[in-house]
Amino acid sequence: MDNVKPLPLINGDNEQFWKGCARHELRFQKCRRCGFVRWPPSFLCPECHYTDAEMIRASGRGRVYSFVVYHMAYHQGFTDDLPYVVALVELAEGPRFLSNIVGCEPDDVACDMPVEVVWDDIGEWSLPKFRLLP
Ligand SMILES: [Zn+2]
Repeated sequence: MDNVKPLPLINGDNEQFWKGCARHELRFQKCRRCGFVRWPPSFLCPECHYTDAEMIRASGRGRVYSFVVYHMAYHQGFTDDLPYVVALVELAEGPRFLSNIVGCEPDDVACDMPVEVVWDDIGEWSLPKFRLLP
């Protein structure tokens, strides 16, 4: 098994998101008709099915909506990180984003805690992760 962590796969829908991450910007599509900010990226709004959207830059702040602590690695690349937190972060702009809470002990994490984005730079990739705010 490979001990290198898997990286995202770029496609036509998510390309703008990952280009924003490379500049340490969290960017999401916002529907030009109903204003819904969506994740994951798609060609139409899941709320009103309108296809025209603008890209907005999110604040990078949100709260822990839900989380789990991994005590077992399902990919060898994550073995050295155990135990680690996988969290659903609800961003201030609305989208719920699956990521990691880093820079703390897993026992420090609880639902509704405020978080902000931090960047995990891996080669040409910048992966958005989150840290707890006081
Ligand atoms: Zn819409």
